Amino acid sequence: MYKEIDLTVKPEFVGEYKDGYPLISKESVLDWKMVTNEGCIVNLLDSKNRFIVKGYYGIQNKGYGWVLTQKKDEKIDADYFIKKIKSAIKYREDFFNDEGTTAFRVFNGEGDGVGGLTIDYFDGFYMLTWYSIGIYELKEEILQALKSVVDYKGIYQKKRFDAKGMYLNDADDFVCGDKAEAPIIVKENGVNFAIYLDDGPMVGVFLDQRDVRRTIRDKYAKGKTLLNTFSYTGAFSVFAALGGSSKTTSVDLANRSRNKTTEQFSINDIHVDKQDIIVEDVFNYFKYAVRKNLLFDMVVLDPPSFARSKKHTFSASKDYINLLKEAIQITNRGGVIVASTNSANFSMMTFRDFIFKAFKELNGKYTVEESFSLPKDFRVADNFKEGDYLKVVFIRKVK
Ligand code: SAH
Repeated sequence: MYKEIDLTVKPEFVGEYKDGYPLISKESVLDWKMVTNEGCIVNLLDSKNRFIVKGYYGIQNKGYGWVLTQKKDEKIDADYFIKKIKSAIKYREDFFNDEGTTAFRVFNGEGDGVGGLTIDYFDGFYMLTWYSIGIYELKEEILQALKSVVDYKGIYQKKRFDAKGMYLNDADDFVCGDKAEAPIIVKENGVNFAIYLDDGPMVGVFLDQRDVRRTIRDKYAKGKTLLNTFSYTGAFSVFAALGGSSKTTSVDLANRSRNKTTEQFSINDIHVDKQDIIVEDVFNYFKYAVRKNLLFDMVVLDPPSFARSKKHTFSASKDYINLLKEAIQITNRGGVIVASTNSANFSMMTFRDFIFKAFKELNGKYTVEESFSLPKDFRVADNFKEGDYLKVVFIRKVK
């Protein structure tokens, strides 16, 4: 049965909800004990019981829920989600009409009005990612809405929350429609990607780097050697090779990366024998490269925000300066370092400061060629700029 619960917001937070801030923080609400189940629809009221906004209760590391509407009488049902999904699709019309790109984000959480949910498109298949039990509890309404709005081949899902033993009869990534081949081949700016919709948490490509990949291919790669660190399926290497790179070297710790990278090269008709694919800890590889006096024209740094290997713990906020210093030492003068991070813990300004410090500590000089944040399909809410986690800087090493 549809039910809404009233919660009281502390006076000092009323203004920000009125202004459209979408994240419901734990500390802004007085009486959380009123709500029992994640997925509850909650009305946030001021201390005089006047309606401010409506949202849902769902615990993520960011907060305790998301605002869904400023309209007191709006019900959060399938019709509500139909409206949201329709407007998200309209915003991405260009993508749906672009034959060269058949993989993109259709719905980006709070950027499209519903925090905690993303929907990605892979050539007719839709992949929903649920970020809390709360949003997952609204699955039926959301699926009903999606099915009524789009023509789909099949629908898949990923749960990005600790299910704590719940939903055992719904453990599958496959939801409905046709099952996808493993892999399906999608396109990005004319380049092929092999996508596995049902093979662990990652599908084979990070869609948010699309503009960066294209820039490497179209503006930087020609005739250059490229080292791609934390390479995963080698997406940056593939684009560099197609842009005329003289040779790419991809380094990743995970065993799977060798086959996955080989596959990406082959489905784009690139000779794999001419490319290096190395399964190793990046930090060992840096030492090896220095010992062997290896120098590259381009170095891509795209580490996870946090990673633990046998010998190293890497945290982007603590260790990025050192990572840059390693890269600077094996980059040719005049060469380019593509420094990327998806860490939401620090801003572009801080990231630029990391770059400044790394060069300063090595007595180096650099210029910034260009920088990137999230692409258009990863829509960011006006009142939640911190949702734009991606920071990529093209740095030219002058000295
Ligand atoms: N740059 C990739 C995405 C990186 S995902 C792309 O464009 O698709 C992060 C990758 O870092 C994972 O594949 C993981 O295996 C790898 N990784 C984590 N720690 C590592 C380390 N110390 N050395 C090498 N690879 C590492």
